[in-house]
Amino acid sequence: MESYSYAAPNSVSEAVALLSDNASIGRQTQILAGGTDVLVQMRGSGHTPRAILDIKALVETNRLEVSAEGIYIGSAVSSAVINENQQLQEALPGLLEAADLIGSTQIQGRATICGNLCNASPAGDSIPAMIAASAVCDIATATGTRELPVEEFVVGVGQNALQPGEFLLGLKLPMPTPGTKDAYLRFTPRTEMDIAVAGVGVSLTLKEGVCTAARVAIGAVAPTARLVPEAANALVGTDLNDQALADAGEACKAAASPISDKRGTAQYRKKVVAVLCRRAIALAHQRIQGA
Ligand SMILES: Cc1cc2nc3c(=O)[nH]c(=O)nc-3n(C[C@H](O)[C@H](O)[C@H](O)COP(=O)(O)OP(=O)(O)OC[C@H]3O[C@@H](n4cnc5c(N)ncnc54)[C@H](O)[C@@H]3O)c2cc1C
Repeated sequence: MESYSYAAPNSVSEAVALLSDNASIGRQTQILAGGTDVLVQMRGSGHTPRAILDIKALVETNRLEVSAEGIYIGSAVSSAVINENQQLQEALPGLLEAADLIGSTQIQGRATICGNLCNASPAGDSIPAMIAASAVCDIATATGTRELPVEEFVVGVGQNALQPGEFLLGLKLPMPTPGTKDAYLRFTPRTEMDIAVAGVGVSLTLKEGVCTAARVAIGAVAPTARLVPEAANALVGTDLNDQALADAGEACKAAASPISDKRGTAQYRKKVVAVLCRRAIALAHQRIQGA
């Protein structure tokens, strides 16, 4: 009879070997980071016995580096740790505000943004913020590592692009240049402890008052978070006037393909995502201006 097992490898090669060995005998493996999704799923729908592979003992998954060369957030680094990092607060306030919206203080003590990404919920709050910030997945494979932009990582509801034998080591992000700031806003029916009806992540670069680069991503309004290049196109070359913001909002609305559920109708979600887009742009703009 199959049962649960637990392993906490000390090296990436050991972790990859365990994943591969289990795959070769048809045994399901589930990575454990903070466990805030895994444990809920084990008590709910996911009763199938499996091998639990805890990645918190690995040096690589605990890396947190912030320098002019770039940013690395290991997949075992909790939201609480990144939220308290002063360099990250300055560099990526939007990514941190997304992490800070996930659950409660207690949840953030365990939850990781990489777990949020791997869980691949359409409403995962950190995902649009990561996409806006140009985050790239650093994936451990049997032969080394490979990279994949976050916007290509989630491939469906609850599904990611990891192949058997792979796991997410961490995220690589560029250090934002001067004049670049991000923002993330979501709307929920309740103020706390609820999942998004819609969410928008934005990163803007301004030079002499003109927007020279932008990334806009939407969440909770499609099976996966989506990068919306049309929204960015509406902003680049403008001074972020009302018309540009309205055009970007309409682009987000057009890119959304939401469902209707108890949190809101599809029509309502489309309306909300346009509003959030305009507000997130205004917030990132204020941050660039130091307001
Ligand atoms: C009370 C409560 C409130 C919540 N509120 C929110 C909210 O407001 N917004 C929101 O977006 N989420 C929310 N969540 C969901 C959850 O907290 C997040 O998804 C969390 O970020 C997951 O991170 P974790 O480290 O706990 O992942 P885990 O639970 O350890 O893992 C999540 C999934 O990803 C896989 N995984 C984890 N790490 C890796 C890796 N490195 N490589 C490959 N696969 C991996 C696991 O196998 C599992 O399938 C809430 C959860 C709870 C319990």
